[in-house]
Amino acid sequence: MKKVAVLGSTGSIGRQTLDVIASQCDSLEVSALVAYSDAETLAKQKIKYGAGYAALIAEKGADCLIDAVKGADTVVVATRGIIALDAVLFALKEGKTVALANKETLVCGGELVRSRLAGACGRLVTLDSEHSAIWQCLAGEDSAAVKRLILTASGGAFLNYTEEQLKTAKAREALKHPTWNMGNKITIDSATMMNKGLEIIEASYLFDVPQEKIDVLIHPQSVVHSLVEFVDGSVMAQMACPDMRLPIQYALTYPERLPSCVKPLDLVGACLEFYAPDCNKFKCISLCRQAFAMGGLYPTVLNAANDVCVDAYLKNKIGFFDIAEIIEKVLNCFSPRGEVSAEAIKKTDAEVKKFTASLTAEI
Ligand code: MG
Repeated sequence: MKKVAVLGSTGSIGRQTLDVIASQCDSLEVSALVAYSDAETLAKQKIKYGAGYAALIAEKGADCLIDAVKGADTVVVATRGIIALDAVLFALKEGKTVALANKETLVCGGELVRSRLAGACGRLVTLDSEHSAIWQCLAGEDSAAVKRLILTASGGAFLNYTEEQLKTAKAREALKHPTWNMGNKITIDSATMMNKGLEIIEASYLFDVPQEKIDVLIHPQSVVHSLVEFVDGSVMAQMACPDMRLPIQYALTYPERLPSCVKPLDLVGACLEFYAPDCNKFKCISLCRQAFAMGGLYPTVLNAANDVCVDAYLKNKIGFFDIAEIIEKVLNCFSPRGEVSAEAIKKTDAEVKKFTASLTAEI
């Protein structure tokens, strides 16, 4: 039996992870659950899944994430923000498998995770649907044969909005995502395409491919989850009905491929469309590329500024275009100091959030 700790168990990915574990009860069991503040759901989950450990971050602080990791073989990280960074580094040091759904850990701490992986016996696998697709396309391939990675994007709720419509587009419209049912933060990130920008950084760390070799393709149906182009001109794609339980199960049961409850894909009569992203309407992709190229703590600056902007947008305090504009301003004004360390990331995150909040308050 593989013991799985689920960090962020009451969120969308956490709940679907528990579904998958329950459906594979011959090989997977829940050893620990950590949620941020939803005590009621956590208590129900603890009983239903028989977890030996359950804790709330709001009550016990981030240390409970480390305690939850201790008794597990695999750690699913589905928390928000950078709160699980120390727990991820600890799990890798202890030789555990980290199944990462959270992007911020790699966006901000990718260098730390990479050096931890180089020196330890732990493993990093991904639960992100696009990255899972790339992982599956790369199976058995030589990394030297990879020409580029192509991340698909649904385009989010505002894909077909005109610039005029975007000026007054409200968060509640964005929350009606066409193909994926996700948490509020990531749904807004999908509407701004910040999610795809963060995924470029994530893919670069996961597969050790420079960002110049990672492209984005809009694909509204979310059936092709991503593609890999090889040097011989061959392109591999992974397809499935959009359902997060598939990448979750693949990560948890890897290298085995087991039957799942995901709806079979029927391509008869299917219409699959692909477009280039509109980088004028959706500036966040290039902001991510810029922050990643600046390196060091700049991705942390970008991520923290985005967090505050998304929160302000969800509360109707700022407009759609303000999000990218404020993030760009923060990237240009804020100079983070020092080497990348877990401490420096947390400190920069807090400082940038304060600075960004002062900018959103002016609007
Ligand atoms: Mg994704």
